[in-house]
Parts: sequence; C-alpha cells; structure tokens
Amino acid sequence: MLTCNKERLEDKIKTFSKFGDTGKGGITRLSLSPAAIDARKEFCRRCQALGMDIKIDDMANIYATIPGEEELPCIMSGSHVDSVKQGGNYDGILGVLTALEAAETIITEKIPHRHPITVVIWTNEEGARFEPAMMSSGVITGKFDKDVMLASKDTEGITFKEALETSGYMGSEENRTSAEKCKALVELHIEQGPVLENEKIDIGVVEGVCGMVNYEFTFIGQADHAGTTPMKYRKDALYSAVKTIQYLHDELDKLDSKLVYTTGKISAHPNIHTIIPDLVKFTLDARHQDPEVIKQVLDIIKAIPEVVEKCEASYKEAWSRKTVRFNPELVSCIEKNAKEYGYTTKKMYSGPGHDAQYLADIIPTTMIFVPSERGHSHCEKEFTPIDNCLKGVNVLLQTILDIDKTI
Ligand SMILES: [Zn+2]
Repeated sequence: MLTCNKERLEDKIKTFSKFGDTGKGGITRLSLSPAAIDARKEFCRRCQALGMDIKIDDMANIYATIPGEEELPCIMSGSHVDSVKQGGNYDGILGVLTALEAAETIITEKIPHRHPITVVIWTNEEGARFEPAMMSSGVITGKFDKDVMLASKDTEGITFKEALETSGYMGSEENRTSAEKCKALVELHIEQGPVLENEKIDIGVVEGVCGMVNYEFTFIGQADHAGTTPMKYRKDALYSAVKTIQYLHDELDKLDSKLVYTTGKISAHPNIHTIIPDLVKFTLDARHQDPEVIKQVLDIIKAIPEVVEKCEASYKEAWSRKTVRFNPELVSCIEKNAKEYGYTTKKMYSGPGHDAQYLADIIPTTMIFVPSERGHSHCEKEFTPIDNCLKGVNVLLQTILDIDKTI
C-alpha cells in the first residue's frame, strides 16, 4: 500500500518545533504571535514550493490547494499551528504537517486525483491568547459573532482584530471554505489522553466529540473569627463545598465508566487563614458522548440540597456543548484503511474540542487520532513517536484518495 515518507515527515516536525521553542522540549506559540507567524510563513513557503495555491480568509485561516483534474469541491485536511503556553510539538501542528505530507506525497508521486486537495490552518484554536477556543472555525461556521471575536483581547490589551491586521494574514471573507467548496474534511490529531498507548492501539477512529457541561457552584456561609467561633456555630462555606464535591464524586462514579468529570477551578473568600470562608465557588466539567449520561449528571447536581452544612448552596450552568457525531461513511473509511495497513484500531469519541467539530456542521467530517506518549498533552512532554505519526499520515493519505474515488 501507499506510504508517506517518514524522514520527510520527521523533518517537518523538527523544523516546526523551532517556532516558539521554549528550550525545554516544548513550544509557546500563541495565536498570531511572532512565533506563530514564523510557522505560517514556513508553511506557505513549503506549499508554494510544491506549487500549491494559497488563499486566506478574513479570519486568517489559510487554505493551500493542489488543483484536481476536475473542477470539483476540494478534499480538506489540516489543523492549527497555535499552541498553549509551554505546550508541545504535536497538538494541532501534527494535523497540519501530516496533511502537508499527504499532499506532498500525492504531488511528488504524481498520484492522479479528480478533486482539489486543500491543506488548512485554522486560526486561534487554543484560545490561549484570545478567548474563546476554536474561534475562527467557529466564526466561519456561524457559531460565533465575528465582531465580538474581533474585540477579544489578550492580556496586554491587544484585540484579535489588531493582531489580525498586523499579522499580514488577514484575507477576504469570500475565501472562507463552505459546503459548496469542500466535499470532506479529515483532521488528524494526537489523542491527548492515555487510552491508545495503554491499549496498544495505532489509530483512534474518531466517531465524534463528546458533549459536555460546565457548572459553577456557589456556597455562601458566614465569615467569622477562626479562633473564637465554636465549631457548632460555624457556617463554613469551604466545608460545605468540600462535602458537595465528595457527594458529586460518589454519585458520578456510579454512572457510565466513560464519563469524565473535573473540578478544576475553586476559589475561597476571603482566603485568609484566620477567617472562616464565607464565599466559595467551584466548577464541575463533565463529558460523555451519550446525552442521556449528561442528563444523569444534571439529575445528580439537581439533588444537591439548598442548604449544605448550614451554608446556602446553588449552581448554574456556565456553558455546555452537545455531542457531535462525525460522518459515518468517513469514519468507516478511516477504520477500513487502518485495517488494510495492518494497524490496530479503536473507535472512540474525543473528549477535547477540535475545529473539526464546528466544520462537521457544514461539511462531512471526521478525525484520526494517533497515540500520545503517557497521554501527556498541553505540556512540553507531549510526544508521539514518528512511527505512530507515519501510521496516521498513511491512513490519512489513503482516506483522501478513497474520498476522491468513491465517497
Ligand atoms: Zn489541538
């Protein structure tokens, strides 16, 4: 079967790891920062050298295209080049570089194809500099209001609009991709979790993206002196919150084992060691592919009494996301191709969000996952061995060619 070039892919990964290099094995390449612009320049330079045509839309999404034999909608693959602060060399960028490697293989091996093939870079996926995450794929698919996004500010007060204008990568709205322009989208990404490696699986066949809910809980007690207030008179909001967290864990653990949930943020007021806390807030992020399980999570939350350990307890939904199901035909195509190469596969849902989930609303879409060593991601330790990357890109290549021929 057709394979991509391992050395060439490795060279790509090594070259791009220099843009935003922290010197400690990772990168800081915030969206539209000088490091991200260097990565974009290198991407465009490589694409132009391959004879690809480059178009940029009004959100700085880059589309590099090899024409097909016929005037047809394109087959698209790619991801993002921005990273979180002190992130790794694989999240996002591997999806761009594998798409580029698949395109380069098609060009250099002169593989005939009817459809144009487009490698895409989505702007500001991480939301680490400008909130929210997946901003530009969200704007072009109608999830976010563009003017609101343009006003998003980084910590230095620079707006996304200003960063766009100074980046040199602000193109025109007519260049946005659409259902008419694109036949299918396949995004390769690292798993960002430990399942594939632990189960010795080569390729994650991604069926969709898990739905999630994020709740914020508030506990109101009474601030009093830590040295004079007998225990029985206290209204300790932190103790009330702790009891609730314990209750949530006990109950949520009874639900389906694929449910993941996290209290990642907590604040206590006044946060002084001699004062009983009077106001405590914490978050609960819960994710599962089945909306029924998410509903069960809500039932557990609803059962929390209004008064816990003499403190007022309340909750509100901060935000939520519905489960996204990818195109079944494309999902099967990924699985078939991986098996034909002799790779082991596992069907799975993505816990993290990806640009592909927004595009899935307008274009038939799926994703390919490759293993993450020890599941590390969003950190400098993020690593995927080159042999795993090669397996991923081979499946991607064959899938692009299958879509071209049959789907
Ligand atoms: Zn990513």
